[in-house]
Amino acid sequence: SFISVANLANQLGVRYNQLSKSLATLGFDDDQLGHDYILDHETAALVAEEFGFTIINDSIEKMDEKYDVQPAPPCEDLAKLKPRPPIVTIMGHVDHGKTTILDFLRKSSIVKGEFGGITQHIGAFSVTTPVSKKNITFLDTPGHAAFLKMRERGASVTDIVILVIAADDSVKPQTIEAIKHCQKSNANVVLAINKCDKPDAKPDKVLQDLTQHGIFAENYGGDIQAVRVSGLSGLNMDKLEEEVVALAEVLDLKAEFNGVPVEGHVIESQVKKGAGNVATVLVTRGSLKNGSIVVAGQTWGRVKSLKNEFNKTVKVATPSMPVEVYGWKQLPEAGDLVIEVPTEAKAKSVIDYRIERSRIQQQLKELDNINKQRILQKQESEREEKMKELLKFGLSPEDLRKKEIELFGDKEDVSDGPIQVPFIVKADVSGSSEAIQESISQIGNEEVMPEVLYEEVGSPTDSDLDRAESAGASVICFNVKVPKDVALKAQNRNIPIYEFTVIYHLIEEVTSILSSKLKPII
Ligand code: GDP
Repeated sequence: SFISVANLANQLGVRYNQLSKSLATLGFDDDQLGHDYILDHETAALVAEEFGFTIINDSIEKMDEKYDVQPAPPCEDLAKLKPRPPIVTIMGHVDHGKTTILDFLRKSSIVKGEFGGITQHIGAFSVTTPVSKKNITFLDTPGHAAFLKMRERGASVTDIVILVIAADDSVKPQTIEAIKHCQKSNANVVLAINKCDKPDAKPDKVLQDLTQHGIFAENYGGDIQAVRVSGLSGLNMDKLEEEVVALAEVLDLKAEFNGVPVEGHVIESQVKKGAGNVATVLVTRGSLKNGSIVVAGQTWGRVKSLKNEFNKTVKVATPSMPVEVYGWKQLPEAGDLVIEVPTEAKAKSVIDYRIERSRIQQQLKELDNINKQRILQKQESEREEKMKELLKFGLSPEDLRKKEIELFGDKEDVSDGPIQVPFIVKADVSGSSEAIQESISQIGNEEVMPEVLYEEVGSPTDSDLDRAESAGASVICFNVKVPKDVALKAQNRNIPIYEFTVIYHLIEEVTSILSSKLKPII
């Protein structure tokens, strides 16, 4: 770890002058004593000692062990484990019927549910299957958005993926992308061949096409279950649910319901009028009750009340049960790990520690960047010096270049920030183009970030294509017509161009483009 002179002075509460004097006695040259000169750990510790401070040299892991709260070790007593409902995400190409299927399942749960009434969107909902009377938990955000949101925080909540493919459209780009996610993360898949009510439905062709992408259904060389459904008419939706239950049984999904501090994940969160900070939590271990004290991310809460998707109060949330949790001091974030702690005092000290840790990590990151730049600059000037010297020998440009590579290596790859994925936005009115640029910029994480090269009002033009091609960007059109010739040229030149009229679809697509750049885990 490193720290700048100015920052060290600041941390120690001494003047820069005093500090630089102390550094001088340690043998530092005057020209090294700029405000932003970076000291390594040992030097900083020596200087700090002079002023009566000790720098703690614990690793973050050690500090975490001491001051943070960790999940309990995995349960080894199998007798303590009870079956829990599977948690299911629905994925597939846009317009293949993900939302329709989720709506059907949600409505069927209202009719059959013990609570009756209207469901509210809380990010997940529970369904009791008609025949086997087993529960399934569905994540309510279709597509890859939910995935990426969870992935951002390294959370893994999904047990089973229902891959939806429209029988009249078969395998499409986002289908392939979803398949890749499933394959790389060894997800358990059930196929929903949707729109089988349509006269032009060709479910067999879909199953055949899927074999090209390594998805082998029963009778097509494999054992992945495929159900021919219609999200619109409800055809075979009960069968789909039963297939999920059957797969869950094979997977033997179990958890401790008691005798362990509660663990779970935040699915989504919001500030509700009159109710304060509310977060939907999927419990993975233990039982969450009123009065439970929990920490999540950089906040904590004593559970004031728990509500299900029917807006009804429940007494306890057991593993895989989606529940709204009231009583947070601040709003936790989707993907945050929820852990129960014994006392409020422990919760507070854990949060204090986490806030301090992230502040220090941020600082270290900044210092690290400064230091990297410094080293690069130094290398660059060394290289220039050396090359100037070599020029004197009258080498040819080719030999000079060879020599350069020999001495300094090929152009270094210093990009170790997030992967930048470029976009160009074209929209109907300037208000919407700005709003889109805003929403796009909010997607992304430490590994992958969107970069809006520019946003403009109007249809995409040849010049947009040129710029997209040179930057490797996708063109995102919102409520504007793509001229036929432009569309054709884009196709020929392999420039991705997308049209949207619904912002939600746009966000979903951008998210899915970004997530395709990630190494998937579920
Ligand atoms: P998503 O983008 O995957 O969420 O797809 P949607 O659920 O929004 O569905 C896209 C369109 O297909 C809508 O117009 C639906 O009404 C229609 N649709 C979805 N499922 C079916 C189905 O099973 N049969 C028929 N005929 N249409 C469907």
